[in-house]
Order: sequence, then structure tokens, then C-alpha cells
Amino acid sequence: MSCMIEKKLTNDVCFVKGIGPRKAKMLEKMNIHTLADVLETYPRDYEDRTHITPISELIEGEKMAVRAVVATQPNVRHIRKGMDITKCTVYDDTGTLEIVYFNNKYTAAQLKRGTEYLFYGRVQIYGRQFSMLSPVHEKCEENSKGRIVPVYPLTAGISQQDFQRLSDAALSCKISENADPIPKNILEKYDLPPLNRAIYQIHRPENIHQVSKARRRIMFEELFLLCCGLNQMKQHRHHEQGLIFQNVNLDDFWKMIEFKPTNAQLRAVNDCVKDVQSSKPMNRLIQGDVGSGKTLVAAALCMLAVKNGYQAAVMAPTEILANQHEQSLSPIFAKLGIETVLLTGSMGVKAKREALEKIEQGYAKVVIGTHALIQKGVNFAKLGAVVADEQHRFGVNQRAMLREKGEHPHTLVMSATPIPRTLALIMYGDLDVSIIDELPPNRTPVETYAVGEKMRKRIIAFMEKQIEDGGQVYVVCPLIEEGESDLELKSAEEYAQKLAKVLPHRRIGVLHGRMKPSEKDSVMQMFASGKMDILVATTVIEVGVNVPNASLMVVEDANRFGLSQLHQLRGRVGRGKRKSYCIFFGADKGMVARQRLGVLTQTNDGFEVARADLAQRGPGDFFGNRQHGLPTLKNVDVIADIQAMEQARYEAETLLESDPELEHYPVLKKRIERMFNAAGGTFN
Ligand code: ADP
Ligand code: MG
Repeated sequence: MSCMIEKKLTNDVCFVKGIGPRKAKMLEKMNIHTLADVLETYPRDYEDRTHITPISELIEGEKMAVRAVVATQPNVRHIRKGMDITKCTVYDDTGTLEIVYFNNKYTAAQLKRGTEYLFYGRVQIYGRQFSMLSPVHEKCEENSKGRIVPVYPLTAGISQQDFQRLSDAALSCKISENADPIPKNILEKYDLPPLNRAIYQIHRPENIHQVSKARRRIMFEELFLLCCGLNQMKQHRHHEQGLIFQNVNLDDFWKMIEFKPTNAQLRAVNDCVKDVQSSKPMNRLIQGDVGSGKTLVAAALCMLAVKNGYQAAVMAPTEILANQHEQSLSPIFAKLGIETVLLTGSMGVKAKREALEKIEQGYAKVVIGTHALIQKGVNFAKLGAVVADEQHRFGVNQRAMLREKGEHPHTLVMSATPIPRTLALIMYGDLDVSIIDELPPNRTPVETYAVGEKMRKRIIAFMEKQIEDGGQVYVVCPLIEEGESDLELKSAEEYAQKLAKVLPHRRIGVLHGRMKPSEKDSVMQMFASGKMDILVATTVIEVGVNVPNASLMVVEDANRFGLSQLHQLRGRVGRGKRKSYCIFFGADKGMVARQRLGVLTQTNDGFEVARADLAQRGPGDFFGNRQHGLPTLKNVDVIADIQAMEQARYEAETLLESDPELEHYPVLKKRIERMFNAAGGTFN
């Protein structure tokens, strides 16, 4: 690629005529700095002005294009201050049409009597007369056909015309054929247009067919880059020498478990057993719905590590969860003579120092903790296995940091946010996947209701009844974000006070993100031990918390949460023998809210919920880009584009088999690096 061309696309948007510093600043809000960024901002829609409709066939309410001659000189009328209206009549062979502009006499004044123009706008009917309000117009050249006009996503202060001008400038930079990251043979195989053509056609299509072809190519490219990158990450890891665990007999461990593991749990444990015996480091994702018993699989892996003379570390996203894991697992390990140590940020200096010493000297065989585990100063004697629980709360980098505490330890990540298999294979392309698709026996599904304000009294009475029967209640209010107080979000504390007025004889506690970890912990302890009837909380209780006696979950403003998050919240109840219920408020907040919440009343299956969530939000949102550190798919519909995903994955795999380091594909290599680095992950 010649550097002249490079330079042009890397030019700042200010270079374009009509784009001054003020507009450039507005564009920055859309993350547009250079002409190259402009090229990557695709139209969100198109106006089809190629299809010319005879005036007699216009349809009221539609946006349509007509070719017509101006019959009368535009006539401006001043209606009142700041309001004038310009009208003229135009005709074609089939009839007449009135053209109307408000406050736009200059545009209207360009129309010349006797000249033919192409008008494009929304058709209206006044009396029996067709009219078009503020249409765009352009002069007809000899047999001019009209165009497909792109409609760009905009931000305040930037008009469609500005963007047209920007994209015109960007498109005038020549894109070299060699700049295409997709190899030619793949383009041919799937009938995809080359990069330069696709870019041109998505911005300036001659017909709608070109748009769909260009889109298909751009989507494929995105998937292909993603798959190549993930595949490489996986390959790099596979070249590492893994620890080989010889002793994989878990009989004594199973004897200590008070319940019979489900088949799905056994399968997942077996997958781990196979991994740790191979010579490659295990890198496995366990996907299982809320309450499916993933912790047991983590425990089994810890056991394998310890049996083979290594330490194991389990990292949880919250202190509450870390504590809880420690409390449920340490007694089991203790019976087998294995010492478990807790490490969290809120521990006292002395306790922490003691824990750190035990970890460093190797007395602590199983270490359970929070992010504190990946801090500097935490040194393991011999770390052989790591587990990241509720991994969607951690970024790729944090997982890597935990891994680096040992030398290529076996890694298990666990997630209760299941996604369709194809997508899992792509998004977690660097991981092997086990799925726990079975819940422990005797669980009755949580009965779920989506309700509106009208039901409030009855719900309060229902809370009372649950407590009367010996159960406990969670209430979740939305997070209070700074500057959001004007939205009248009910803060947890205010809410608890109000609730205390209605249920004065009940013990009500509050848990929110601003509390110190030790405070959170003691509240949680009170609730878990039954010394509290109602826990009013923000979403800090979303992940993993286990209080089997809790039988009712009430979520306020549920319409503001993602479906998967609501499903997680629902998973806090129904964990014991009590018949459990979940109430989502917010069903009266419009049709969309009602429909979304309706999904949850209809299914208890986390996979189905995730699918609906994905369909509604798209994967970027779904994962929360910053958290997982993987690129977001901007142009892919993950539900509809399954076939393209599979093709891209297959091609990426095939290509990397023949050229693992992409030595013959420097452009592709560079683009992959850019994509992953932009996502904030470390690409290695
Ligand atoms: P999650 O997959 O959401 O992390 P947990 O591991 O916390 O689920 O398990 C949820 C509850 O189910 C815990 O109380 C656990 O002791 C219990 N449990 C796990 N496996 C079984 C099983 N096979 N039979 C009965 N109870 C089980
Ligand atoms: Mg869990």
C-alpha cells in the first residue's frame, strides 16, 4: 500500500471541507476521528430513490420518489412570526402533486418552473390532492435514475449532509486490493465482495442487493477476524506444557459429599480429569444454569490438584461469595486433612499476613478469595489449578493474572450465563466447554410473576405470609448511580425504611455496594443464619449467594435489568426445600417491559433466557465488553447469523492449521491485533 493512500485515510476529519473543530468534537463522541473511522461507520438505513413512482400511484404515508416538472413558481407565504410556508405544484404524465416546505424558502427557491426534478419524501393527502412535505430534491439529468441514499447514525450537531460529505471524502481515498484481510479463496468460496468494493457499496450502493452483499461480507469479516484471534490464543496456550496429574482417583472425595452428584456434574468432572492427565494445560468453561451445582466441579478440580502435590485457587467476584465458598468447602477438605485458606481484601492485616504466609509456604492447599488473589505479594508455593467462578464478572486479563500465579496451571472458569453453543464456541473460542444441563433432583421451579403497581398490596401481604411460614425474603432495588437520583430510583435504605413502616414487626436488613466488605459480610451472615426476615439489597446479591431458606425474591423496576441478570437474581431462591417464588415489578412499564418480563414467567431455563436476552440486546451488551475483554461484534446478529458464524469458524481453523502464525497474511494478522487490542484484552 502506498503511503500516500495510507495518509489520506488516516487524515483527521477536520480536513474535510465544512467540518470545523466544533463538528470534529461532536464526531469524537461517536468515536470518529479519522476518515478511516468514517469508512467504518456504516449507514443504519437507506432511502431507496431508485424506484420512481408515477404521481397517480403514490401511497399516503410512504416515503417515495417521483420525477416531476415544476408547474408553478414557488410561492412563499408568511404565516406568523418565524413561520413561513412555500408551496408549488409539480406534475408528471399521471397527475399533479403539491410540494410544501416550512421555513425553508431558500431550498424551495431553487426550484425552477419548467424544470424536471426528482423529489423524495413522505406522501400525504389533503382533500384529494397528494402533497409532499419538505422533500429532498435534485435536478434530473438526461435519463437520471435516482439513487439509493445512505442514512447514517448521527449525533447532535452533525447532519446527514455532513456525513455524506465525510463519507464522500473517505471514499475518495483509494483502498488498495492488498488491504483485504480475508484471503481471496475464501472470498470466492462464499461469493463475498472484496474489501474495497464492499466498503464502496455499503456507502454508495446502486441497488439494495449490493447492500446485502456488502453487509454479508462485513459481517463475515468481523466473525472471521474474531475466530482467527481466538483460535490463535487457544493454539498459543496449547503449545504450553501442562502439568500432568497422575493420581486422579476421587473416591475419598465423593465419600465426603453428602449428596449424589448429578450425571451432568459427573460428566463435567470427567472432562476435567481427562484434561489434567493430558500434557496440555486445561482451559475449560463450565456452563451451567443457576443452582446446577458448579461449585462441586470446582471442588473436584481442587482435590485433583492437591492429590498431586499442588495448590489450588478459587477466585470469586464478591467477598460474600468467596466467604460462602470457603464455608461450604473447607469442612469437606478438612475431613480429608486438607487446609483451606480465605484471602479477601477486607481481612485484617494480621489475618492477611498469616494467610499469605501459608500460601507462600504451601501449607494452604486450597485458597479461596476475591480479586485479592491476583494482587502483587500473593505468591503460591506450587499452584497447579485455578478456578474463576462467575467468570463473566472477570475480564480475560484477570483470569490471565490468576493463571500467572503458577506455571501453566490448569484453569477452570464457571459461568451461569449460558449462551447458545455456536456462540459459546466463538466467544469462548479459546476455551473448551462442558455444559451442566441438569439440576439436582427435587428442585421445584421458582414460580415467577411479572406484576405492576396495582399488585403492591397483595405482594406485601405475600411477603408477610412467606415469613409467617418460616421463609425469608429478598428485595432487590436498582443500583443507585451517581447523577441518577433524579430518576427517583428507590435506594435500598429508603426502601427498607418504607418497608419497615408496612411490616414493623419484621426484621429487615440492608445490603448495598457502598458498604464496607466486612459490613456486607455481617449482614449476609445474619440473613443466612435466619436472624433476619427480609434483606433489601442492590444487585450485589446477584451472583452465587446461597441461602436455601429464602423462598421469595422481589425485584423492583425489573424492567431496567437484563433478562440474564434477572434470571440470576431469581436463582437466589429455590435453592432449598421450600417452594419458592419470584416477583418482578415493572410489568406495567409499557409493552416492551411486559413482553421481556414475560419471557421469565414462561421459562426457568437459563439457556432459553440467555437466548431471548441475546436476541434483544446483542452480544456486546450481553457480555458487557469491558468485563470480558473480548472484541464486541458490531455487525453480527448472533441469533440470525449462525451459519456465517460456523463458516467463519471453519475457515479460521483451516487457515491457521496451514499457517498458525499467519506469516503469509500480514494484513490479517495486523487487523486481528487491532481488533483485540481495541477491546482492551492482551492479545498473546
Ligand atoms: P451454582 O451452579 O449456581 O454455583 P451451587 O454449586 O451453588 O450452584 O449449588 C447449588 C446448591 O445445590 C448448593 O446448595 C449445593 O450444595 C446443592 N447441590 C449441588 N449439587 C447437588 C446434587 N448433586 N444434589 C443435591 N444438591 C446439590
Ligand atoms: Mg455458583
